[in-house]
Amino acid sequence: LSGDTSPSRHVAPAASSDAFALDKIRLESELRAALDRGELEMRLQPIEEIAGGRVAGYEALVRWRHLQRGDVAPAEFIRLAEETSLIVPIGDYVLERVCEMLAELRRRGREPLPFIALNLSSRQLEDPLLVDRILARLRAHELPPDRLKLEITESLVLDHVRIAALLARCHEEGMHVALDDFGTGYSNLGALLTLNFDQIKLDGSFVRALDTSRGVALVGVVVATARALNCDLVAEGVETRAQREVLQRLGCGYAQGWLVGKPLALAEVLNGN
Ligand code: C2E
Ligand code: MG
Ligand code: MG
Ligand code: MG
Repeated sequence: LSGDTSPSRHVAPAASSDAFALDKIRLESELRAALDRGELEMRLQPIEEIAGGRVAGYEALVRWRHLQRGDVAPAEFIRLAEETSLIVPIGDYVLERVCEMLAELRRRGREPLPFIALNLSSRQLEDPLLVDRILARLRAHELPPDRLKLEITESLVLDHVRIAALLARCHEEGMHVALDDFGTGYSNLGALLTLNFDQIKLDGSFVRALDTSRGVALVGVVVATARALNCDLVAEGVETRAQREVLQRLGCGYAQGWLVGKPLALAEVLNGN
């Protein structure tokens, strides 16, 4: 899924697996070159506090503007990058850009300073020095750790012991961690039982179901769960006023989606979007 206005194209499936392998090799070298040439860009999608109607923060989403293929969706190239070692420099790039963007927002006097959330890949989660690397970048830009949020998608929350250690370390350092795409993975409630996330991001598929009584009932349960666990709740993929109204009535704290705003370039954010 892409929230951009420009048409986003997935990499076309190849006819045979040989062709696919070839295509993958070509894509990999193109991705490496794109990274070197700075053709990966970050967009910021606003996250709104529903009751106050103000933007509390942004999610950083990576974009690959491919000269021939058009935009390649992150869901497509992140997976490719995961299969190679490219995800390591891409993860570093995303982290550095997020810190630069936070520093720029602060320089421009944005008060209170919004948070920026960044998505972590499975490779990054395996890195025992991940938190140290993040802290080093934050320190280099003299940024307060509580303005950075880490998003971990639910399907990556398999090793609870490892994630628990990560959460403990982040909290010690004042960083917040969100459980992304809640409702789509294997271990929804199990993850919440043992792991104290600061934020839950409800997957857009539940928001789309808000026009049915089952959907309303289920989202109501998630709202109550988040409140009981003292977690912020962000509804993803909010596209209509009707959806936001139901979310507000149910007591969901935050909304993200095209209704609130599409992913924007930093310059657009600075110009008051
Ligand atoms: P995600 O973290 O769940 O990000 C939300 C996705 O929903 C984004 O797709 C966003 O553009 C899209 N979206 C936002 N609002 C709406 C809406 O109202 N309706 C609909 N239909 N879609 C909406 P995107 O940017 O294509 O990213 C897809 C996934 O790729 C992300 O899912 C995230 O898991 C991954 N990803 C994106 N950027 C990064 C990154 O920098 N690093 C890593 N590791 N993963 C990333
Ligand atoms: Mg995310
Ligand atoms: Mg998400
Ligand atoms: Mg999602």
